[in-house]
Amino acid sequence: MAGPKAGTVASSTVRPDSPTFWKEVLGLPGGEALATCIQCNTCTSSCPVEALEPEFNIRRLIARIKLGLREDVLSDEALWACARCFACVARCPKHVRPGDIVEAVRHIALGEEREGPGPRHARAFVESIRDGGRIHEARVTLESLRLAGLLREGWLPARMAWRGKAPRLRRRPLKSVPEIRALLDAAEEGA
Ligand code: SF4
Ligand code: SF4
Repeated sequence: MAGPKAGTVASSTVRPDSPTFWKEVLGLPGGEALATCIQCNTCTSSCPVEALEPEFNIRRLIARIKLGLREDVLSDEALWACARCFACVARCPKHVRPGDIVEAVRHIALGEEREGPGPRHARAFVESIRDGGRIHEARVTLESLRLAGLLREGWLPARMAWRGKAPRLRRRPLKSVPEIRALLDAAEEGA
C-alpha cells in the first residue's frame, strides 16, 4: 500500500517530532511573525502556485510548522514550489509574510543538506551564478532533475527543443564574475 504523501496533516501516520520547530523558524529572518498567523487562508487564496501544485498550500505549511511536524515539512518536495511572487505577503491581514516563512524553512533544509530536486535546484542555481555570473539553465535543470527526472518529463524537453525553447548548452562567463563571487561570499557570510 502506498504511504501517505508528505504534507498531509490529516494522515494518522504524521506525528509531531519537534514541538519547538515553530521557535526555530521564528528565530530566522523571514520567520519572525509566524506566531501571529490566524489561519484565515487569505495567503492560500492569493497563491498562484497552489492552483498548479495543490500539494503546496501555504496556510497548511504554517499550520504544520506550528504543530511541530518538522520532518514532514522539511522533507516535503512541495516546499520548493513557491515562486516568491509575494502575493501572500501583500495580502496577509496579520503581516505574517508567509512567502518569507517558506524561505526560512528552505534555509533550514539547505543547511541540513537535504536532497531532492528542490534543494538541488537551489544549490545549482547559486553555483551556476558563482561560476559564470548568470544562470546556466541547461546545467541547473540537469543538476536539479538529473537524467532520471528529465526522462520522466517524457517528450516535453524534445518538444521544447523543437520549438527553439531549449536552453543553451554553452554559456560564456560574464566579465564581472569576480565581483559577483564577492557579493555571494558576502551574502553567505552574513547568512
Ligand atoms: S493570510 Fe496571514 S494570517 Fe492568514 S493564514 Fe495566511 S499567513 Fe496566516
Ligand atoms: S510567495 Fe509563494 S506562497 Fe506566497 S503567494 Fe507567491 S507562490 Fe504562493
